[in-house]
Amino acid sequence: AAAAAAPPRLKLDLEALQHLDASEAGPLTRYAATIQAQRGDYNGKVLSIRQDDMRTLAVIYDESPTTLTERFISWGVLNPEAKGDVDDASE
Ligand code: C2E
Ligand code: C2E
Ligand code: C2E
Repeated sequence: AAAAAAPPRLKLDLEALQHLDASEAGPLTRYAATIQAQRGDYNGKVLSIRQDDMRTLAVIYDESPTTLTERFISWGVLNPEAKGDVDDASE
């Protein structure tokens, strides 16, 4: 209840990510692997990522962050609660 106002965190399902077609999921897979390496976080089933990382991935995929968030959810690699957590406004 204390955390009710916090936005849902963006969580990648690392298991599901491994089963996707590399031609589409490749950039996301490499990005997640880089974050894991930077953190030394190799043993998780999920990986929490930054809001900013969705903006970076949106540039890589040439999509709006909102569209990309929906696509990742439809692939089953991003938690559905993440929908609405990312907006397209720039600083
Ligand atoms: P950094 O951004 O200078 O962060 C240094 C340390 O601050 C991190 O070490 C972590 O312990 C903590 N930290 C920074 N931001 C957050 C946050 O939003 N949440 C939490 N829980 N902790 C935070 P760590 O995890 O060993 O990461 C080392 C470096 O790896 C980071 O240095 C950053 O350059 C990179 N990195 C790690 N995870 C991510 C990520 O999800 N996205 C991006 N863009 N870079 C990341
Ligand atoms: P949650 O965010 O729903 O995460 C559930 C579980 O997913 C975590 O259990 C952990 O096993 C895994 N998980 C989530 N993100 C990562 C990740 O980036 N790397 C790895 N290796 N595993 C991840 P855990 O650790 O027992 O945490 C339970 C709950 O405690 C979390 O639920 C969250 O609500 C809270 N929590 C844990 N760490 C943090 C944190 O750094 N920041 C915040 N705000 N909450 C945290
Ligand atoms: P979290 O740890 O619960 O952090 C929630 C939000 O608090 C972050 O959202 C960020 O806005 C802010 N925050 C927390 N720690 C720091 C910090 O050291 N420096 C700054 N500038 N802001 C901080 P954000 O960035 O969207 O990250 C979402 C989640 O992704 C984090 O939840 C954490 O689970 C994970 N994460 C992000 N960056 C790192 C990192 O460098 N290392 C690790 N281990 N986890 C990270």
